[in-house]
Amino acid sequence: MAAEDNPLLSAFPLPAFSALDPEHIVPAIDARLAQANACIDALEAVERPSWENIAARLEEAADALDRTWSPVRHLRAVADNPQWREAYNACLPKLSEPRTSLGQNEHLFRAYKTIRDMPSFDTLDQAQRKVIDDALRDFKLSGVDLDEEGKLRFKALSAELSELTSRFSENVLDATQAWRKHVIAAETLAGIPDNALGLAAENAAREGLDGWVLTLDFPIYSAVVSYAENRALREELYTAYGTRASDQGPNAGTWDNTETMIRILRLRHEMATLVGFESYAAYSLARKMASSPAEVMAFLETLSARSKPAARRELFELREYAADALGLDTLEPWDVSFVSERLRQERYALSQETLRPYFPISRVLDGLFEIVGRLFGIRVEEQSNADTWHPDVRFFEISTSSGEPLGQFYLDAYARAGKRGGAWMDECVVRRVTARGIQLPVAYLCCNFSPPLHPRPSLLTHDEVCTLFHEFGHGLHHLLTQVDIAAVSGINGVPWDAVELPSQFLENWCWEPEGLSLISGHVDTGEVLPEKMVERMLSARNFLAGMMMVRQLEFALFDLRIHAESDSPDRPDINAVLEDVRRQVAVVIPPQWHRFAHAFTHVFSGGYAAGYYSYKWAEVLAADAFGRFEEEGLFDPRCGLAFRTAILERGGTEDALTLFREFRGRDPDVEALLRQCGMIATQRTESPNAAPTD
Ligand code: ZN
Repeated sequence: MAAEDNPLLSAFPLPAFSALDPEHIVPAIDARLAQANACIDALEAVERPSWENIAARLEEAADALDRTWSPVRHLRAVADNPQWREAYNACLPKLSEPRTSLGQNEHLFRAYKTIRDMPSFDTLDQAQRKVIDDALRDFKLSGVDLDEEGKLRFKALSAELSELTSRFSENVLDATQAWRKHVIAAETLAGIPDNALGLAAENAAREGLDGWVLTLDFPIYSAVVSYAENRALREELYTAYGTRASDQGPNAGTWDNTETMIRILRLRHEMATLVGFESYAAYSLARKMASSPAEVMAFLETLSARSKPAARRELFELREYAADALGLDTLEPWDVSFVSERLRQERYALSQETLRPYFPISRVLDGLFEIVGRLFGIRVEEQSNADTWHPDVRFFEISTSSGEPLGQFYLDAYARAGKRGGAWMDECVVRRVTARGIQLPVAYLCCNFSPPLHPRPSLLTHDEVCTLFHEFGHGLHHLLTQVDIAAVSGINGVPWDAVELPSQFLENWCWEPEGLSLISGHVDTGEVLPEKMVERMLSARNFLAGMMMVRQLEFALFDLRIHAESDSPDRPDINAVLEDVRRQVAVVIPPQWHRFAHAFTHVFSGGYAAGYYSYKWAEVLAADAFGRFEEEGLFDPRCGLAFRTAILERGGTEDALTLFREFRGRDPDVEALLRQCGMIATQRTESPNAAPTD
């Protein structure tokens, strides 16, 4: 096939999804990689480096590759089949190689350094300067600065770490899958909800057995510990789950991660010190908004001191309730979820299913577009005739209130076979200025809501409504950007601990009576969510918020400390650190034999090493940013415009703290999150927009 016939190579700016075929993939990626490599060769030969002849050309090549790869990555996630998967997997190793070698490319490193050191650097605009500074930082973090011996060591460390981290997650997976319990007597399973029982019955049927097979897969595990009336059964699953891949529990020693964890920590420490950092935590923070491990430590300790009293009170209530209502004299760790669920049902008696009829998807979308329209002065309109990958997919355009186009997005809302679970926003096209003019951004918004059951439309739970707002917040960050260079446009170049700000921020409108009146309307009567239900929903929102907070803080502090403390880098005592952290923050202390860390994949095999605090960090940013709307008006247009111009339009062109300060006029304040979680009293001014003239 000639290159010009390949829709993956000609697609600009929108991919021609209906014309794509798995056989286009490998040749298209090969062609783009060949272009990228030719570009890098040409750049290495440049004698007088400048923004135009180095950075701009590299950006052009990277964007061409991204635009070709994006629809492939996307279709693999939403329309998986064996042919796509095979072609996708064939490309992965090809794609990872030039990236790793780029980080250690000394020619390019020197070229960027030359650009940085020239007097003309000051004449570049803010975005260009940030791109050069970020690139230099990343080169250094990849070890390009080291001597030959150091470089070899760095590469060896990276290779071994990728092997160890994948062994860690394989051990967790194997240990999770190895445990099973066959149950014949239905009364053993009393209390467990139907959908979890259905999964367990399917497991049994697959093995040709009667009854149910319980496993440690999360939907079954969490249903058992939250709902099973049989205390011994809860204890059994709690024990098996909490000792996975360790030296304890029913499969002690079989997939034990102990040595792997120690080696991962040791190698990470060596890697960080090799490129000049005191610890792996400091190395990890070099790319984040938080400035130092000490700052993150202080942040977590403040939150912990402020939320522990609430957590203690909640635990006391749970104990009382367990004794009085459930006859449990002690509250064991395997009772906590069960007792919490009982108390939640008794207090609030409001299930997500009851809320569903109030949230037909079309009403929710209209309300969402109305809300962002009022806040940010934008219009969202559906476009017909878009070329998509499935008939359910809808396509929208966002423009300014005066009709100037800003970007477009696909909305793929429903669950179906071949589509990955969960919800996410991904980039299809990134905004940048090209020789042909402005390339406008395009996003994919994907969710897994229940599809319509004709004639009934798709009805969302309130959790799902929040998910939609969350992903739409990421979408706005990508789509409202005004940045001209892809590397810092939209969510690109935004640090990990700040990227959840717009998404968590937008969720707040799903919890405000004024917002709820715009997004709810009963499927049969059109009636908005009744005030009584809103009240109950709001009071249930912060149920056991203190206990949940200290649990997240326990994980975050543990993660930070094992990566920050270098007293014994050769033999870090993981269990001792965990115990110490628990003494400091936890209110529910697991038994001595419990081995949480051995299955903490976020940190030992995911991207969260010395970064687990990011969840809380971003929650503070989002709650505090929303606080300005609480003070100045939920739909105050000046406030909305300020958020748009300081955060949503600026991508990664500035330090995230600078942008936050520009919007809020000060540093982030943890009080905002504590207030939102109901741990301190709210002081709220009336919305000036509630006046009838508005
Ligand atoms: Zn998110």
